[in-house]
Amino acid sequence: MLVGCLESGPDSELYGDRGSWTFAGKQDDPSATCKGRCGSPDPTVSGCYCDDECATYGDCCPDLAGACSGLGDKGCLPLMVNGDPQDKLDIVLIPDAYLDPQQLQQFVAAAKVYLGLTGEPGGLLSVEPFASNKDKLNLYYVKHQAELRCNRTFSCDRAEVDRLARTCPGHDERIVIFNNDHYSGTNTFSSWALTCNTTTPEHARHLAAVIGPTKLHCTDQPCTLAISRPWSLVHELGHSFACLKDTYNNNRWGHQYGKGHPNIDGFGCSKWCSGTPTVPAPNNQDCAAQQTEADCLALDVKPPCRWNAATKTCSPQKLVDDKHQLLNVGRGCLPGTGCYQGAEGLQGYRALSYPNTIMGYAEQLEFDIPSLRHLKQLLLKYR
Ligand SMILES: [Zn+2]
Repeated sequence: MLVGCLESGPDSELYGDRGSWTFAGKQDDPSATCKGRCGSPDPTVSGCYCDDECATYGDCCPDLAGACSGLGDKGCLPLMVNGDPQDKLDIVLIPDAYLDPQQLQQFVAAAKVYLGLTGEPGGLLSVEPFASNKDKLNLYYVKHQAELRCNRTFSCDRAEVDRLARTCPGHDERIVIFNNDHYSGTNTFSSWALTCNTTTPEHARHLAAVIGPTKLHCTDQPCTLAISRPWSLVHELGHSFACLKDTYNNNRWGHQYGKGHPNIDGFGCSKWCSGTPTVPAPNNQDCAAQQTEADCLALDVKPPCRWNAATKTCSPQKLVDDKHQLLNVGRGCLPGTGCYQGAEGLQGYRALSYPNTIMGYAEQLEFDIPSLRHLKQLLLKYR
């Protein structure tokens, strides 16, 4: 509890480097403030604290009660609070299966890496457009020690996640960090998110999950727990917050590209190009109906069908140029974009021929142009 922190705490001798009978920060010291640091387990420059334990240690900053009032009462603690939740994009991080205070500390450390609060490349606040819109975000975590089973998408206790998120004053986006070691590495994916056009109930939407520090990712001995892909939270938030789709070449999920997905389009890419393509539309939907190699290759469509001898299937050929590179079928595209077949299956087109950005292979820690444009648009709603 934060309220009552101005009372004296137990003997500081018992608590090592934490604690002091007097306030570490003086009333007139401008750095002794909890403004923007509510819930942080780190001391301010002047040595006072703003977390929910400072009451016990007796080392709270003088303005804690005013600056952080109401927070922590129900388990929600701030990581970075910039203002009224009404005006901000409120992101709540929720621990899954961090079952004691020490494990919970691990969770908080992981949350900070994922959010970019530690300066780690790929953390949320290091990636545009979030980097230059930091002040539009409120970041919280929920102090909670139980299983939510969000290591697997479909067993995740979404109703409980919803209840926990609601302990925070704002809860636009919920991100679960699951303790992989607790689940003995039985997760299917190391991260996942629910995208916008699902039929799942409201409480299950705007939800993503990422893996916590895990022994699985240890390459050194003894094992130092670390987050191996800090950018994966940004990628999943791209799905859950902005309805963005994966742009790496896949149709594993059987997804259809949809009108509601700003970074995937149909032939011609009218979302970020003129919509007038450079080549005629593929006329090869009949390929799949062909049963033999002869029929497959004889079919008179453009581009021609392709026969796969191993699977004995006839399928549409990708739109490639004469060097077998994916063909840019977009005309008048935004700078830095084109229109390339192969996102979410052959029906989907993306802005990059090789999608090395956050929603793709994430070799570059930035969003592709259509995604960035859409994210900026969404952030305009916040102040
Ligand atoms: Zn994805």
